[in-house]
Amino acid sequence: MSRQTWASLNRSVERCRKCDRLIEHCRTVAKVKRKSYADQKYWGKPVANLGQAPADLLVIGLAPGAHGANRTGRMFTGDRSGDWLFRALHKSGFANQPTSTDREDGLQLNNCIVTNICRCAPPDNKPTTAEIQQCDSFFNRTIEFCQPTVFLALGGLAWKSMIAWAVQNERLQKVTPRPKFGHGAELKLADDRWLLGSYHPSQQNTFTGRLTEPMFDHIFQQARKRIDQRNTSVSGG
Ligand code: SF4
Repeated sequence: MSRQTWASLNRSVERCRKCDRLIEHCRTVAKVKRKSYADQKYWGKPVANLGQAPADLLVIGLAPGAHGANRTGRMFTGDRSGDWLFRALHKSGFANQPTSTDREDGLQLNNCIVTNICRCAPPDNKPTTAEIQQCDSFFNRTIEFCQPTVFLALGGLAWKSMIAWAVQNERLQKVTPRPKFGHGAELKLADDRWLLGSYHPSQQNTFTGRLTEPMFDHIFQQARKRIDQRNTSVSGG
């Protein structure tokens, strides 16, 4: 078996055509387009991970936005959720700039990878359970390459996928009670790694005030703290 690299994993994501319904939807959205983007060429296919492995922080979202990542070809790029995410990543030192507009805008993540549990834009933003499972092998390999200290789940479905991964890979500490998903939820995993939960920065949450900017920033400060703690203990400091 040939040895897969981070780059070849990302290429195989972009070439994947396993989910007929999602591939069809991505293509249709790319053809019909939103009026305000009528002059742009949409990506219209699966979206690869963003960032370079390994990285201490893995940010896990749900799926590309139809007119965001499915248009620009970069995770969380080109919609309001992304505006929130990259601003917070920049403030906490995980990105070199606060905005992400297209694949050529000079954005670089620092010790951070952004991924989704489903890599194709789903109708109504809702992938089916079977579609998420179909994408699991990409999720698992992303984690293997990333080896994060902090897994940051944006939303309940990303949290659920992470718990399933942790159970499957025997990463849950048996004595630790398993918290439910919530904003600020924290679960210690084996080897001093952490799962953190945050409300997803979707418009549904940010427009209604369910998620505010200070609340979101706090999660990244928390992630930074856990990373620094682990790095200090690993280096014997
Ligand atoms: S959702 Fe994942 S498994 Fe399904 S077609 Fe897209 S990349 Fe492939």
